[in-house]
Amino acid sequence: MHHFHYQNERLYCEDVPLADIAAKAGTPSYVYSVATLTRHFTVFDGAFEGVPHLTCYSVKANSSLAILGLFASLGGGADIVSGGELFRALKAGIPPDRIVYSGVGKTEAEIDYALRENILMFNIESAEELEVINSRAAAIGATARIALRVNPDVDPRTHPYISTGLRKNKFGIDVDGALKAYRRALELKHVEILGVDCHIGSQLTEIAPFVEALKRLKILVGRLAEMGIKVQYLDLGGGLGISYSEETPPHPREYAQAVVQELKDLPCTLIFEPGRVIVGNAGCLIMQVLYTKQTQTKEFVIVDAGMNDLVRPSLYGAFHGIQPFEKGKRETRVVDVVGPICESSDFIARDRKLPALNRGEYLAVMSAGAYGFSMSSNYNSRPRAAEVMVDGDRFFITRERETLEDLVRGESIPDSIERARQI
Ligand SMILES: *Cc1c(COP(=O)(O)O)cnc(C)c1O
Repeated sequence: MHHFHYQNERLYCEDVPLADIAAKAGTPSYVYSVATLTRHFTVFDGAFEGVPHLTCYSVKANSSLAILGLFASLGGGADIVSGGELFRALKAGIPPDRIVYSGVGKTEAEIDYALRENILMFNIESAEELEVINSRAAAIGATARIALRVNPDVDPRTHPYISTGLRKNKFGIDVDGALKAYRRALELKHVEILGVDCHIGSQLTEIAPFVEALKRLKILVGRLAEMGIKVQYLDLGGGLGISYSEETPPHPREYAQAVVQELKDLPCTLIFEPGRVIVGNAGCLIMQVLYTKQTQTKEFVIVDAGMNDLVRPSLYGAFHGIQPFEKGKRETRVVDVVGPICESSDFIARDRKLPALNRGEYLAVMSAGAYGFSMSSNYNSRPRAAEVMVDGDRFFITRERETLEDLVRGESIPDSIERARQI
């Protein structure tokens, strides 16, 4: 369910024609719908009504301050994976006691920052990290509240690059290793064990792998109880998928039902780290057709958005729907929609059936709210896109398009080279 739709053959986000946004903000730009973001957050969070829980939105899916601010206003927390994401979450007004920190490679500086801000919990991913967090907490005179991220070795049946809960993945600690690490944590003076954490992957379209992981976690929680460790928080991570084209992922309510059913005897607070399911279908990337080009084997539509703006098609072979701003009846063509970047992997869509397109017209790449802007780069020295938030019949540019000066900010040419250049 989202708020991008045609009205009199023109594509709208809520009550704003996307053409108005393109005219004001230019292209490529990301456009987010407040109504959709709000609905997705409240549907997910509401699915666990009556169960003690905390919805910690996964910042990496889309780290826009405006979006974080919206979720803060809805009572959301944050799942962060870096000091930069902590900075953003705090700046957007998310309270530290609703922030959990995941990631296999937390630096000491990042750990210190999170300790000083007194976040709710570190999700620890290795035995070494546990030692470092304890010693940094000792140095600062703090206590680190922790969970261990357990790798339950279940197959999430998703793209290999976004599977995280298999034994061969770099994430978490296997169940036996976790028991050892919990035993060690009991001896450490500057950590307080709060719970258990798990995140098995992204874009899951079935319930079964979640349930399988939960069953394994329950066994672990039982073993921990025998060791005298009471689990106050059970963090089940994120990963619920969305529909990009034909997928039929479970509704958050079905997911919640399965989770609650499985956990009804456990008296603890649940933490969820949803990312994609909240923001994915709440955003699109708008772009303009620069050229059309017929070669001997293919027809190309060359647009002003590239893999630096949206890398998912190049990185995962991901599918994104493409819709023209003006619908109208026209013949259809099979085309490759490609960007301006000097890589053959720079495509938005391949062999896609689309209405015949002309130079100058505008298109929207759908379902681009998650892992879109947040994975964008400056490759080919392309300034990053603007971001726009639509709220009813109004819209706001929430991030200005980068300028050419932004591209070289902080760079310098060493004096020695500068001198040589002037000779
Ligand atoms: C990426 C990530 C998430 C969010 O995953 P989605 O599939 O976007 O819901 C949650 N938790 C952790 C630890 C992650 O790395």
